[in-house]
Amino acid sequence: MDWDVLNTGLKRLKLRRIREILGMEDAKERLSEFDDPLLMVSHLISEEVSARDETQRELRLRQARFPGKKTLEAFDFSVQSSVNPEAIQTLETLDFVRQKENVVFLGPPGIGKTHLAIALGIKAVEEGFGVRFVTAGQLIDDLYASLADGSFKREMKRWAAFDLLVIDELGFLSLDRTASDHFFQVINQAYEKQSIILTTNRPFQEWAGLFDDAVTVSAILDRLLHHVHLFNMKGNSYRLNHHLNSKQEGVSSVI
Ligand code: ADP
Ligand code: MG
Repeated sequence: MDWDVLNTGLKRLKLRRIREILGMEDAKERLSEFDDPLLMVSHLISEEVSARDETQRELRLRQARFPGKKTLEAFDFSVQSSVNPEAIQTLETLDFVRQKENVVFLGPPGIGKTHLAIALGIKAVEEGFGVRFVTAGQLIDDLYASLADGSFKREMKRWAAFDLLVIDELGFLSLDRTASDHFFQVINQAYEKQSIILTTNRPFQEWAGLFDDAVTVSAILDRLLHHVHLFNMKGNSYRLNHHLNSKQEGVSSVI
């Protein structure tokens, strides 16, 4: 057999994993274990497919730009009694992404909103969905910048390309008229076409103070909340509790 011809062909067809397997020293030995040649071919092809899936998954994980790794397994539900673990398990099936529904984690700082949002986002990447994490501030900044250089439409298209947008930390800044309109456009464009996970420290009654005008606020809420899994979270900051606990046992009970 002419290895060079085979090797060149595999290279041209970009069958990297098969090339790797066939290039192994003991390749012949390993493959001779298959009595049925069809089984052997099927083995090679499925190796190639899983290698590609893995590469794709890693690529999508990088593209999602999560600020860190958080998992649902690492989330301690016993200290966060306002979140029903079963409701999170339901979200873990990712049906909400398939059905283009939204998730809102609402509550004070440090109680695990971003943690849950990232963990679900990572799950979605693992399931093969296109996901993008962004802070509300960054999203607004990006859209503003695209107005300046004439790439607004392209930028909006870019955001539309994901199955799931994780928009973190709405509420730390108030948005002017342009920013409010941009935010509305992102929500409107996603409505029944993409899923959004939003985290916010501001209850909805306060959103009027966040956006430029009441009409925009109700248009945003209308779309965001039509198909939503809402988590109204309460509790003390996990960060703060953790910090104090590590310094002095029992102090957390006073905050
Ligand atoms: P928020 O977004 O609500 O301000 P974060 O999700 O950023 O809060 O949580 C702050 C820190 O505390 C993070 O490092 C997060 O992983 C951790 N944390 C919060 N709640 C929990 C929890 N119930 N179990 C484990 N870690 C938690
Ligand atoms: Mg957060």
